Amino acid sequence: MSPAPSTADGPAVVETFHSLQGEGLHAGRSAFFIRLAGCDVGCSWCDTKHSWPQAAHPLRPLGELAAAASAAAAAGAAFVVITGGEPLQQPLDALCAALAAAGLPLHLETSGVGQPSGRFDWVTLSPKPHRPPAADLLARCDELKVVVTSPADLDFAEAMAAEAVRLRPPATPGPARLLQPVWDEPAARELAVAYVRAHPDWRLSLQSHKWLGVR
Ligand code: SF4
Repeated sequence: MSPAPSTADGPAVVETFHSLQGEGLHAGRSAFFIRLAGCDVGCSWCDTKHSWPQAAHPLRPLGELAAAASAAAAAGAAFVVITGGEPLQQPLDALCAALAAAGLPLHLETSGVGQPSGRFDWVTLSPKPHRPPAADLLARCDELKVVVTSPADLDFAEAMAAEAVRLRPPATPGPARLLQPVWDEPAARELAVAYVRAHPDWRLSLQSHKWLGVR
C-alpha cells in the first residue's frame, strides 16, 4: 500500500482557482489554474510579484491538487493551467502525473527559465529578453507570447520566433506568434496593434480577464 500524500509530496502553491483563460489562443475558455510559487526572473512589470518568494507559500499535497482539478472539471473547466511565478522553478513530473486523474489537458505557462519537466498538452512560452529561455521549450512550445513594452521587444519577438522555427525539424510548423502589450500602457498597446496590423504572422493577445475584472 502506498503512503498517504503529504505536503512534502506537493509543490509550493500561491493559489488555485477556476476561471476563464484570459490570454493567448485559448483565451475565453473555462480553465482551472494552479499558480505555483517561486520566480527569480525579475521582470520589472510583473503583475504577480507576490509569487516570487517560494518559501512564503505553502506546500500543497498532490492528492489535494488533483481533487481540486477534478472538481473544476466537473464544474466545467476544459483544461488545467500550470502557471506562476515561474513553474519550471519546481519539478513538475509528479504534479503532472497526479493531475492526470482529473482527465483534463494540461497547459504550461512559462518564461522558459528553469529546468523543463512534466508532460503537457499545450505549452505557452513567454520569453524575456533579459533571461533567455531553455532551447527545449523554444523547440516545443505551441504558442510564443511576447510581452511588448517597447520597440526592442518587437525585434526580440521576431528573433525568438525565428529561433523556435530553426530548432524544429524541417517543414515543422513554428509556434503561434502572439504579442501582448503590457497592461495599462497605451503606448505599448499602440505599438503591438500597429505591428500586428502590418505583420500577418502575428496576433494580438490581450489580458481579457483584467478588462473583464475577473480573476
Ligand atoms: Fe513575473 Fe513571470 Fe517575469 Fe516571473 S517570469 S517575474 S512571474 S512576469
